[in-house]
Amino acid sequence: VPVSRIRNFCIIAHIDHGKSTLADRLLQTTGTVQAREMKEQFLDNMDLERERGITIKLQAARMNYTAADGEQYVLNLIDTPGHVDFSYEVSRSLAACEGALLVVDASQGVEAQTLANVYLALNHNLEIIPVLNKIDLPGAEPERVKSEIEEIIGLDCSGAILASAKEGVGINEILESIVHLVPPPSDTVAQPLRALIFDSYYDSYRGVVVYFRVMDGTVKKGDRIRLMATGKECQIDELGVLSPTQVQLEELHAGEVGYLAAAIKAVGDARVGDTFTLVNAPATEALPGYTEAKPMVFCGLFPTDADQYPDLREALEKLRLNDAALNYEPETSSAMGFGFRCGFLGLLHMEIVQERLEREYNLDLITTAPSVVYRVTTIKGEVLYIDNPSHLPDPQYRDKIEEPYVKVEMITPEEYVGTLMELCQNRRGIFTDIKYLTQGRTTLTYELPLAEVVTDFFDQMKSRTRGYASMEYQVIGYRENTLVKLDIMINGDPVDALAMIVHRDKAYNVGRAMAEKLKELIPRHQFKVPIQAAIGSKVIASEQIPALRKDVLAKCYGGDISRKKKLLQKQAKGKKRMKSVGTVDVPQEAFMAVLRLD
Ligand code: GDP
Ligand code: MG
Repeated sequence: VPVSRIRNFCIIAHIDHGKSTLADRLLQTTGTVQAREMKEQFLDNMDLERERGITIKLQAARMNYTAADGEQYVLNLIDTPGHVDFSYEVSRSLAACEGALLVVDASQGVEAQTLANVYLALNHNLEIIPVLNKIDLPGAEPERVKSEIEEIIGLDCSGAILASAKEGVGINEILESIVHLVPPPSDTVAQPLRALIFDSYYDSYRGVVVYFRVMDGTVKKGDRIRLMATGKECQIDELGVLSPTQVQLEELHAGEVGYLAAAIKAVGDARVGDTFTLVNAPATEALPGYTEAKPMVFCGLFPTDADQYPDLREALEKLRLNDAALNYEPETSSAMGFGFRCGFLGLLHMEIVQERLEREYNLDLITTAPSVVYRVTTIKGEVLYIDNPSHLPDPQYRDKIEEPYVKVEMITPEEYVGTLMELCQNRRGIFTDIKYLTQGRTTLTYELPLAEVVTDFFDQMKSRTRGYASMEYQVIGYRENTLVKLDIMINGDPVDALAMIVHRDKAYNVGRAMAEKLKELIPRHQFKVPIQAAIGSKVIASEQIPALRKDVLAKCYGGDISRKKKLLQKQAKGKKRMKSVGTVDVPQEAFMAVLRLD
């Protein structure tokens, strides 16, 4: 195909506004996927994604389309993940496109992710085509939402397409707009090869399969290529396009989107955002914008059963082949035994990894509460990055502690502004801006410590606004604060996995609430179990779990056999998620107690 008849585009939307449904519809209408092979939401092919209705990983699809002008076009759809945790991946997939469909639910309007993604798209100079989806809904207000898009984003909506992805309305109009409005790639076939990696995954037979867009030059099967950020070299065994299943080809040219396999061992060797070029005729400069995805949130992962430690290590190794952003190191905890300290892009990333470990690898894990990375300067002037609260140097060795801050942007109906401001104040937020957008819709901007956002901020925001508010955040740097380490002692022993770093002004309240919560969560034992919270050697809160009354057990020994069996079964089930800390059995929920204090 000549470059003039290629169109590369993506779909940007807030979660649930209909991106996957529209993508499916485009594949179907262009005959790329026949109706009978159509599973709902073809592009979201991880189970987890389908269950949660989110798009985690980007994928691509090539469609052949005969336009109204009678010409054959190749339309490459590059799917983008919708969540903040993956905004770097969004940015890389946008860099591979010339245009974007901006899908907004006509019954909802602009949301935080619409906004964040649209700004990214504008930064990449993409042609943006507004699409108002779900016009079949009785509550759809396309005119109101159009003016919202115009006012908030400053995008002309006079040509906005009214669509229903569900009912197939407006699909041809969308395809024609892509052909006419999205510019073709520039013709740089004569230049040295440069291709942008926007996704990759691990395949146990072929090694890493890389998805890329050829920006300049030509790439052929058999070529030796060099990955410019990692310096790795390899030979292309297989090359092709995604239509949407992999179809092999001999070569791809500037402007085209495809996949390759080259016996690359781990996704870390061919990272998203990296550029590859030819070993023989290399480009001098990589494509701009490459950064390594940095983990922002850390937690400890421990097998409930110590025998599962080797299995956990093997599972993490495997996941890591497929997820360059996943970070882990062995960790030994005096309370928990052997496990791993893992780093994630954000909370959703953390949940996804935990869930995959348990589901796909059959592991029973205890996870500790998420922590951010603190920057500590010692009195000797050394700078340490602390991702595990129990490793915080004692106060006499510290000069200062800094913590990461984020700028949080929330979009909410006006009536919830008060409750959201209260939430942000409780979380040590600094108010920066409020804007009344259109009738009844407001953006609220705060700067907050990331540590306060990773602990259930999102859930709180949703429940306080009955699900109507949406949010995005962006890291803005480190700030110094008076932070202290809060230790939790169970039965007299400090439990390192429960240690946390909190602001001094909040330490007493958090300590007290933690002790109370743990008392609630830890089951009774044959003996009394004292629980204490302490800063240094100073105990600031204490509670006691009373001993189990003997007659509870006595009754069941004397009672009928089936009831006894039931009780034992129940205990066994409960035990699955228990970790013995010294002589005390502590359930999984206790390690997450800090997330449920308010
Ligand atoms: P995504 O999160 O943006 O990928 O959204 P999905 O495509 O998964 O759609 C979210 C929900 O909206 C699903 O239940 C869809 O069936 C529904 N949906 C998508 N498009 C339409 C539409 O045009 N009309 C209606 N009524 N529902 C739609
Ligand atoms: Mg989706």
